[in-house]
Amino acid sequence: MTDKIAVPSRTREVLAKYGISAKKSLGQNFLTDGNILRRIVDAAQLNKSKGALEIGPGIGALTQYLADEAGTVVALEIDQRLLPVLDETVGQQDHVKVMHGDVLKEDLHALFAEHFHNVEAVSVVANLPYYITTPIVMRLLEEELPLEHIVIMIQREVADRMTASPGGKEYGSLSIAVQYYCEAELVAVVPRTVFVPQPNIDSAVIRLTRRSRPPVEVADAQRFFATVRAAFTQRRKTIYNNLRAAFPEAAGVHDMREVLLSCGIEPSRRAETLSMEEFARLSERLGVLSGKQE
Ligand code: SAM
Repeated sequence: MTDKIAVPSRTREVLAKYGISAKKSLGQNFLTDGNILRRIVDAAQLNKSKGALEIGPGIGALTQYLADEAGTVVALEIDQRLLPVLDETVGQQDHVKVMHGDVLKEDLHALFAEHFHNVEAVSVVANLPYYITTPIVMRLLEEELPLEHIVIMIQREVADRMTASPGGKEYGSLSIAVQYYCEAELVAVVPRTVFVPQPNIDSAVIRLTRRSRPPVEVADAQRFFATVRAAFTQRRKTIYNNLRAAFPEAAGVHDMREVLLSCGIEPSRRAETLSMEEFARLSERLGVLSGKQE
């Protein structure tokens, strides 16, 4: 058990000692609340046979908690200035590996093969840099990394979108993309006051757990996502208007109203009311009509 740095005074002290000021451009807001860190780590259900990949360890506040629970921790940080800090706060433990790198560029499969080959399961656990939350999450999901959980602190508003059900204004293509791959749960809502420096938005912790298979069966996942994105192009417009504009070739040959009705979808509905099953039906039908699938 190491001396914990997740209190505001300690965090400021560590930053001052190394002459570091937080870089806004890298989304640096350091978490200073031990109770929230505990909830994040508990949600990841770690133990000494498991591994944790932390994206953006900062000065090591979350890393210290991960190191207490997991058998192997890999912490990948883009900001070189923080490496000596991490060396002091967490780097002295054999089961913790601090790496310098950009999560969007790193070969994550190679990283897993090198560091996590002898653990039972791996989870990503992170207080993410908010400016690249969606690209990071989509990369983790689309690359099909063998992950048990993804437990992440993100902007409250993005968390609401990722966990949204049909019918509300938060439900959109991000909800469907995330929920196609994962079960998404809200773990905690986090006020801005627990960060140094304070961001001007509130945050939330969510847990994503990969599904063994998607909840809908589609022949072509790319076409499914393209259909969803097209349907949400202009949220105020009907599904009919959005799809007619997005698929002019299908609309030219077939009446888009008929296409929608043949899928049991009223053309005057808005995309935010459609379930994932309805989107799947629609994308399969559009695939047949465009001749890409017989
Ligand atoms: N984990 C620390 C905590 O909870 O206090 C810091 C979290 S801070 C919100 C985000 C961290 O991600 C920063 O340390 C930042 O330098 C790092 N970061 C930003 N972009 C990154 C990238 N592309 N790859 C890896 N780390 C990145």
